[in-house]
Amino acid sequence: MFRRQIWFLLLLLAPGGGIFAQAVPTPLSHFGFELGTDRKLANWDQLTSYYEKVAKASPRVRVDTLGSSTMGRPFIMLTITSEVNQGRLEELKAVQAKLADPRRVQGPDDLNSLLDQGKTVVMITHGIHATEVGGPQMAARLVHRLASSNEEEVRDILENVIFLDIPSLNPDGLQWVVDWYNRWVGTEYESAPLPWLYHAYTGHDNNRDWYAFTQVETQLTVRAAHNVWHPQIVHDIHQMGSDGARIFFPPFIDPYEQNIDPALIAGVNQLGAYMAAELAADGMKGVVINNRYDGFTPARAYQHYHGGVRILSETASVGIASPITVGRDDLVGGRGLDATVSTWNFPWPWEGGEWGLPDIVDYMEAGAVALLNNAARNRRYWLENFFNINKRAVDGWDRWPEAWVIPANQDNETGLAYVLRILTTGDVEVHRAEAPFQADGVSFPAGSYVIPMHQPYASFAQTMLEIQHYPDLR
Ligand SMILES: [Zn+2]
Repeated sequence: MFRRQIWFLLLLLAPGGGIFAQAVPTPLSHFGFELGTDRKLANWDQLTSYYEKVAKASPRVRVDTLGSSTMGRPFIMLTITSEVNQGRLEELKAVQAKLADPRRVQGPDDLNSLLDQGKTVVMITHGIHATEVGGPQMAARLVHRLASSNEEEVRDILENVIFLDIPSLNPDGLQWVVDWYNRWVGTEYESAPLPWLYHAYTGHDNNRDWYAFTQVETQLTVRAAHNVWHPQIVHDIHQMGSDGARIFFPPFIDPYEQNIDPALIAGVNQLGAYMAAELAADGMKGVVINNRYDGFTPARAYQHYHGGVRILSETASVGIASPITVGRDDLVGGRGLDATVSTWNFPWPWEGGEWGLPDIVDYMEAGAVALLNNAARNRRYWLENFFNINKRAVDGWDRWPEAWVIPANQDNETGLAYVLRILTTGDVEVHRAEAPFQADGVSFPAGSYVIPMHQPYASFAQTMLEIQHYPDLR
């Protein structure tokens, strides 16, 4: 009898009427400090054990190990969505796969039903540059909020969005940087830089690998996340210099690369400007858009060739996790921006002063939540735009050829294998000719590789195979 009463009480107390097997552990209880505290950083061991606990306690969160990092650490992805959506994840993945390949959609009724059923798939990636420590700390705080809160905003996101969270694109670097920082914090060497590269092979250029796929972290993200889920929105969280704007969102500056769908570019503009507006509405100063970073290279933007928008955010850094003071006279804008003057793309200048990890994590979290809100509220727009982008690719663009042919019997077998590996990793369909054939008056032997340009990821093939000319901006 007594036990039954206790259960009854627990049911009443469970927020929103849901029954949680156990309470979602708070960051404070797990790490011993609030995430986003000056001079406090959680390392990868602590973060991954936290995610295991949260996934065990919350039916909204699952954690998958996609593989191992370069140095053998777990490379993980969280899938966060409502409990109902978690129960039909495979079905929702199948809906997304059809929207990603319009050849599989049978007419307007089929399309309408897919648009009704589908969810906006959002991927957020953190910490590829390991000294930019804010992202992975914020990630754990945001996961806790999404796993435990029953605010209307959170429920709306969970219902309409499948959120794929890669809490670190560089677990090795994260562990090294945090352990290094923790070793020297409180001494005269506090904030000293890590004296070796934060990615074993590529250092900072780990974020130039999204077309060559040379590193295991890139391969895991592309093969086990992008190509499985085809996200409509990808948000890559970074940090920049300390002495200008507090945070950057798109629109990017020109140029965009010429094979990116125009409606995709417009989607980037819409979403980035929306995020900036949400931060301004919260009174967060120093938000700049359209002032730096272009949209030219596939080396950073895999998704621009796979139907998804890429939102880059860059938050002003500190001394790793140690606060800094920026004097008003030391503020610099760059690219025509005066960091003390209000302009259309920088409406609310920050006046200078103290800036620390708590600010970084707050700004990042506000940006991520704004993005998830946009994804939830405009679910149908994101799905329709995604389908239309993929449809235009399948229909073929005027400036693209009917097909690319790579002749068989190449002397450079290694080079050929490398190109084919890039194309197929990028989800491009490559066929082999069963018999000799002629095209445009040229004879090709049997075994030649044919890449028809009426396929969803034709823009990736075109960008990889044609010569690129970066415009002279001087
Ligand atoms: Zn970065």
